[in-house]
Amino acid sequence: MNMDITIFTPILLGWVSGLFVNYAADVLPLTRRFSPPLCLHCQTPYSWTDYLTLRPCKSCAKSRSVRTWLIQFLAIAAFVYFWLLPSKALGFTLGAIVLIYFGVITVIDLEHRLILHPTSLFGAILGLIVGIFVHTKRYGPVGGIGNTLLGGLIGFGIMFLLYQVGTLVARYRARRMQAAGKADDEEEALGGGDVYLLGVLGLMVGARAILSVFLVGVIFGGFVSILLIISLLVRRRYSNDALMTFIPYGPYFIITAFYALFLS
Ligand SMILES: [Zn+2]
Repeated sequence: MNMDITIFTPILLGWVSGLFVNYAADVLPLTRRFSPPLCLHCQTPYSWTDYLTLRPCKSCAKSRSVRTWLIQFLAIAAFVYFWLLPSKALGFTLGAIVLIYFGVITVIDLEHRLILHPTSLFGAILGLIVGIFVHTKRYGPVGGIGNTLLGGLIGFGIMFLLYQVGTLVARYRARRMQAAGKADDEEEALGGGDVYLLGVLGLMVGARAILSVFLVGVIFGGFVSILLIISLLVRRRYSNDALMTFIPYGPYFIITAFYALFLS
């Protein structure tokens, strides 16, 4: 059998990209910058060689997280897939950069319920480039830039309004918890980072598609939350507070935007 040697290119690129996503997800939530890697269990600094070869920590001997390995192999699978069937809108290279960005945001949001400002800033620049690249092909230069900016504005605007409503609800709830003699737990119904995230996704997918990304993301996120509440009810672990627990919508918006950019 004659195997095509070029398939090693996406495997290698996928592995390196996986290392980067893991590194960013390890250090950015702690230091907000690309600082030297530390063991997440005992805070001992890793040597770059040990870190990049995924060895266990020399100090506490804890091996690397399941997430680390999962990301490595998901990254290879995604890179091989989009090497063979590149996104029609983005092509392989720009698609790869967007995939890495989505990976970093998703892992950090799932693990810390946070969308960091430095990643949002990077996302805004990437969103502009992707949006203009994608929409200029369809609408010409002026229409392309217009559609990109309008998409960003709509995404940011919808989420900003919802965030304001969420803040009001949180304030009302804090007052009731104080009245009941409980300390305010500062739980936010909707993370502020989602406002920037939907703005970035709006730049990428444009004015028309951002509405579907928003709606499908909310329905998808709500559906999973209902399943979660049912499972809590079944296990009799449900309390009134569970209803108000912050739903990380970020990953659902990203999955929906991913579908729009890569698979449709
Ligand atoms: Zn350690």
